[in-house]
Amino acid sequence: MTDLETPSSAYIHVPFCQHRCGYCDFTLVARKDHLIDDYLAAMEQQLATVEPGIELQTLFLGGGTPTHLSIEQLERLFAAILSRFQLSDDCEFSIEANPLNLCIDKIDFLQQSGVNRVSLGVQSFHSEILTFLERDHQPEQIFEIVQNLRDRIPNTSLDLIFAVPGQSLQNWQDSLADVVGLGIPHLSTYGLTIEKGTSFWSRQQSGLFDLPADELAGTMYEYSLEYLSSQGLQHYEISNFARPGFECRHNEVYWTGHPYFGFGPGAASYLKGVRRQNHRSVATWLKRIAAGESPISEEEELDPESRAREAVIFGLRRRVGIDLADFESRYGFTLDELAETAMEKNITAGLLEQTETHLRLTQAGCLLADSVVIDFL
Ligand code: SF4
Repeated sequence: MTDLETPSSAYIHVPFCQHRCGYCDFTLVARKDHLIDDYLAAMEQQLATVEPGIELQTLFLGGGTPTHLSIEQLERLFAAILSRFQLSDDCEFSIEANPLNLCIDKIDFLQQSGVNRVSLGVQSFHSEILTFLERDHQPEQIFEIVQNLRDRIPNTSLDLIFAVPGQSLQNWQDSLADVVGLGIPHLSTYGLTIEKGTSFWSRQQSGLFDLPADELAGTMYEYSLEYLSSQGLQHYEISNFARPGFECRHNEVYWTGHPYFGFGPGAASYLKGVRRQNHRSVATWLKRIAAGESPISEEEELDPESRAREAVIFGLRRRVGIDLADFESRYGFTLDELAETAMEKNITAGLLEQTETHLRLTQAGCLLADSVVIDFL
């Protein structure tokens, strides 16, 4: 498949949470459950615009917290999706979840509905870190919920956050050991970043906390790479680790420059070389759909060079890197033609390495990936 063909992946954004965590700048509303029915009606309307019968290889419900919806509300959302899309026999059907939303009945419902991958926002196994992050679960609850989940949906991924104020290296090492002890096949790890507009931003500006030094954050990240790979969880993307066969196929669609549908506030789609982004405000998105207007806030048709540059930026996220021959045949440029200076600079700095077949980040480059990719823009 090229990036210009009909997508076989869809992302559905579910913008509801119980509470907005202090570090979170995702598209969502908290304590506005009275909007869920309007959201479901708007999704039904949006999905009805899709030509019926397209088969999906991956379907991803993210948020927000999709499992904040009740079983009945999820049932309505799934029915709307399945009225337009067919799922292939081996479709990866993922949903993001928070531990306290996952009672046994809901897990059973998800499994019976065909969900076969759950990404669980655990973030830490330590109560003081969870309290700092304003999460509503406790460490002891995680073990029971993960066990219930894995008995029914074995392809479970956990999210963990490192470089949290007050977090020691030992604390991070213990959390990783807990993940390994649970036999989890996929893990995503993110260093805490403080985004403008969040309550953590204001608190940090007021001097109420400082992030750990870059050196400690780097040590935590490097420890993750070494420890998790020694335990069979391969580092396959800057922030992601998986046992063989458990890599997230939906995210691979983004990183390999393939097309996808996107529905819901803030969701992006990439269809026939055109990238579109829906309004991030839930209220605006709802209003525009109710008024019969387009929910799209930005639209950009990528020219061949922009498509190629984007492919480099996403492709470098994967540890395998960019296949040089495949890149040239898909985009019509060699990497040398496109970005010789950027390549030379970063190879000399030890942040990129080139083999006969691939260009990829080094381990040091993974730590500084954001600054490496800027050179390719
Ligand atoms: S639960 Fe997740 S999506 Fe919701 S506010 Fe917290 S971090 Fe953001």
